This record gives sequence, C-alpha cells and structure tokens, in this order.
Amino acid sequence: MRSNKQRRAEIKGRRLERAARAVAALAAHKHDARGLPEGLHLAGMEPADLEVLARHNNTYGLLPSYYLDRPFTCRDCGVEEVWTAKQQKWWYEVAHGHIDSTAVRCRACRQARRVARHAPEQAG
Ligand SMILES: [Zn+2]
Repeated sequence: MRSNKQRRAEIKGRRLERAARAVAALAAHKHDARGLPEGLHLAGMEPADLEVLARHNNTYGLLPSYYLDRPFTCRDCGVEEVWTAKQQKWWYEVAHGHIDSTAVRCRACRQARRVARHAPEQAG
C-alpha cells in the first residue's frame, strides 16, 4: 500500500504535467476578441466571472476571461507547485484577492508562515 505522501507526490506530478500540456495547447490555439481560446476547453481551465471580478477590482488593466493551472516555484523552499485554476477562481472571486496577486509559496510554506504568525516571539 502506498503512503499518503507518495500519493500526494503523484497527484502533484500529474498536475504539473497537465499544466504544461494546457500551456502548450493554448499557445497553439486561436483566441477570440475577448481573449478566450475559441471552442477550447481544457482540463485545468476555469472560466472567469468577469462581473464578479470587475466588482472587486478597480483596474484599467485587462481582467482574465479564464484561469489556467499555473505552475510556480515556491519563494521559500524552491519546490515546484501548481496553483490550480479552481484555486485561482476561489482566490479572485470568493476571497476577493487582488487581480495582480498570485501564489508565491507552496502549501507547506504557507502553513509554516501561518503558524509563525501565531507565535510572534519566534518570528524573525
Ligand atoms: Zn515552499
């Protein structure tokens, strides 16, 4: 039987592969005037709710018409992780994160920072 750690590593590996495939497919695809890839729906892709975004973002920049799984390297430990399209949709549309903000730390480092904030005598 496989450990949870192994299973998580496998899931993460699959997400990284899926993100890379999606980026390649999108680059090769024709986009319409709103920036949506015409007729394309990919795994790891979520449509954005522009009305919700516009309500909470006072920006002259373009708002995204969709989210795409986004691989990134953790700022603290250097591990490669994927910020999924679903997580992005939640962050921007439910938590009202600013449209210019993106994930910079992996799950483990975010948790470590959260713990550190609650123990200020050890912060530094
Ligand atoms: Zn990290």
